[in-house]
Amino acid sequence: MLKKVLVANRGEIALRIIRACRELGIRSVAVYSDADARAPHVREADEAVHIGASPSSESYLVGERLIQAALRTGADAVHPGYGFLSEREWFARAVRDAGLVWVGPPAEAIAAMGSKTAARTLAIAAGTPVVPGTTTALRDAAEAMEVARTFGYPVLLKAAAGGGGKGMRVVRAESEIATALEQAQREAKNSFGDDAVYVEKYIEGPRHVEIQVLGDMHGTMLHLGERECSVQRRHQKMIEEAPSVAVSPELRARMGAAAVAAAKAAGYVNAGTCEFLLDAKGEFYFLEMNTRIQVEHPVTELVTGIDLVQWQLRIASGEKLPFVQSEIVPRGWAIECRITSEDAANGFLPSTGRISYLKVPSGPGVRWDGGIEEGSEVGLFYDPMLAKLIVWAPTRESAVERMHRALLELTIEGVETSRDFHVRVMEDADFKAGAIEIQWLERRLPSLIAVAPTAEEVRIAAIAGALFAERDRSAPPVAGTSATSAAPATESSNWLRTARAEGLR
Ligand code: ADP
Repeated sequence: MLKKVLVANRGEIALRIIRACRELGIRSVAVYSDADARAPHVREADEAVHIGASPSSESYLVGERLIQAALRTGADAVHPGYGFLSEREWFARAVRDAGLVWVGPPAEAIAAMGSKTAARTLAIAAGTPVVPGTTTALRDAAEAMEVARTFGYPVLLKAAAGGGGKGMRVVRAESEIATALEQAQREAKNSFGDDAVYVEKYIEGPRHVEIQVLGDMHGTMLHLGERECSVQRRHQKMIEEAPSVAVSPELRARMGAAAVAAAKAAGYVNAGTCEFLLDAKGEFYFLEMNTRIQVEHPVTELVTGIDLVQWQLRIASGEKLPFVQSEIVPRGWAIECRITSEDAANGFLPSTGRISYLKVPSGPGVRWDGGIEEGSEVGLFYDPMLAKLIVWAPTRESAVERMHRALLELTIEGVETSRDFHVRVMEDADFKAGAIEIQWLERRLPSLIAVAPTAEEVRIAAIAGALFAERDRSAPPVAGTSATSAAPATESSNWLRTARAEGLR
């Protein structure tokens, strides 16, 4: 078994890995930038190494410093988490060349799945269905038009090196294609340093369903069923669940087999995810493979009972998987909400500040994978995801209710968060019915945000109103808190803020 692991990441995923290490008796080494000097992951690890200034380009993205930190502390392995350098073939290779174990797939497998076009080529060869489109970069607009004509509009231009929904353009008519191609190429160049853009058929109204795979070094490759990640904004996931209402045991077996075939074709080892689009007819199309642990891995852990991060470490230590495919059957339902420092009511504007108060939900079936605590500074250096709230319950209906309850227990003061947005989704009739697909949220968002306040907001506004009215009777009015017992609905968020500021929550 590995003895000491350097965790080349920050925030909730660094803590998640440190916890898995501790449970396995492995020592952990955290790394941190200036901004993270007092972050929880630094304190929770057995050791910590300062690696540079706050911008990630001067710390978490400097491979050489991470490797030096591992060598200096006598670590025998590096766990990259997700994001940062987790999917960089050169980094996986450099870690290996330094005599360290990479807790992830071989560098060659990362390379094979590294660009969307390479992954498509590989999937086609493995017999895994892909979205109709090209497998090479477009030369020019004329070629894009020619290809688009063969399968018809709308089409999607995509950056081969893409990630995080960047470098993507939907094109609905031939007249738009030249401009869209230029824009996609420019964005791809800026974001990934590579302007290769290819074209796919744009599938209308599919679900995003992905399959978790897990393979050891001894030739076993299994799938752990699906995650439904259709609740997306700007091609980015907001809420994930397992299993999916749209996936029958028979379809799960077929999608699982397709994912295992693609992973095997890439010589894959360790945990990975094959992403698919699933259309209303039950046809599925491979999108790409993520060659790392994913943000949404906990929902799979909760329905399968398999600790994915522990298994990443055990596989990297050379252990054999003790399960067989037929034993892996999802039990109950799990949902995850990404709690971000974004103000949903204001176009998801990033919010910064100091967490002045934090109340974390608990009780039956609730899991909090967080990277913050009271006193944490939330800046703009890193991803706005503060934490993940995950619940498990026997049925989807009870999981939605449990998530709603847990979200109401959650209080974060000091920055705006996506918490209220999630409360609204849990109260939404479409979501409750599982009637979601990848464009659902974008369509629903304006009404979701603009609607009347949530039941909880109404209750709090009423209490606040009554209390302030009572206080105003005995004291002179304070600016900004003058109370009227019948506050209009649109003022409820002000009421809420005032109530919070007054320490009522
Ligand atoms: P990224 O790596 O940038 O996340 P993906 O290929 O994983 O890009 O796609 C992200 C999201 O964009 C998908 O979950 C889906 O919502 C949407 N998408 C991607 N390809 C298509 C397509 N061909 N048709 C419709 N939507 C798509």
